[in-house]
Amino acid sequence: MIDPLVTSEPEVLFTGTVWGEGPLWLPRQRRVRFSDIPNNRILDWDAATGVTEVYRSGEDAEYTNGRTLGLDGEVVQCSHGRRRVERDVDGVVSSIADVAPGGVRFNSPNDVIVDRQGAVWFSDPAYGIQASGVEGHPGDEEYGARHVFRVDPHDGSVTAVVTDRDQPNGLAIAADGRTLLVSDTGEPGGAIFAYELTADGTDLVDGGHGRRVAKPDEGGSDGFRVDVDGRIWSSCGDGVQVFDADGRSLLRIPLGEVTSNLCFGGDDGTELFVTGATSLHRLRTATRDVNAR
Ligand code: MG
Repeated sequence: MIDPLVTSEPEVLFTGTVWGEGPLWLPRQRRVRFSDIPNNRILDWDAATGVTEVYRSGEDAEYTNGRTLGLDGEVVQCSHGRRRVERDVDGVVSSIADVAPGGVRFNSPNDVIVDRQGAVWFSDPAYGIQASGVEGHPGDEEYGARHVFRVDPHDGSVTAVVTDRDQPNGLAIAADGRTLLVSDTGEPGGAIFAYELTADGTDLVDGGHGRRVAKPDEGGSDGFRVDVDGRIWSSCGDGVQVFDADGRSLLRIPLGEVTSNLCFGGDDGTELFVTGATSLHRLRTATRDVNAR
């Protein structure tokens, strides 16, 4: 596929996951870190060698899912198994948030972003505590819902922000800095919803009811990212679908399998790394992540 936005044919960089998730470009290491959730391991693909190796597994992985970079370059990741959001600083992992409001546990944090103030926003659907045990340890939904939470960068307090979703999943803040985008892989089948943020960017306007923005033609949106021009690059049932900020479809890129998540990266930030069910894919693009820095 050659397009003004996507400038190369898709490449497969690694095959061998059962359900790949949570890709993140690590600029210092020049690696893509990603999760293989059912195999309970974290993998690193090395841009210099093209080799993929196991970074953590078993009790050292605890079913991680989505991840992002913190403001100091640390990895911020979601762990189904530990039911928390955590940071990995040079291999040392510690908790960012493991107690929900009311003193109970989260369900299974799924995907996470860090905003420009350093606040951590994460989704908390129930996929990692299901009875099957495929993506974590079976358990109860202790607060009886599935929310998007915000962790305050100053005092670490945790607030439920988005409370009207079935299974909130992917997250991004739109190019205007005033819109939180959330995909819901529950009842709406993977549509992306927009929530207006207050001027200080810490909460939702009007108690926060989501406005449906986009839905992939094939399957649903799990993880997605926003580029510098406000486009939404989303996972879907058969590859990647790109929307403009108003949700109009711009492009579909078939990758031959259902995909879960994606990130921009590479040395100039224009490569798109996509985790599919079985494989890590790369597309070269003509754009970068809205938060590229
Ligand atoms: Mg997800």
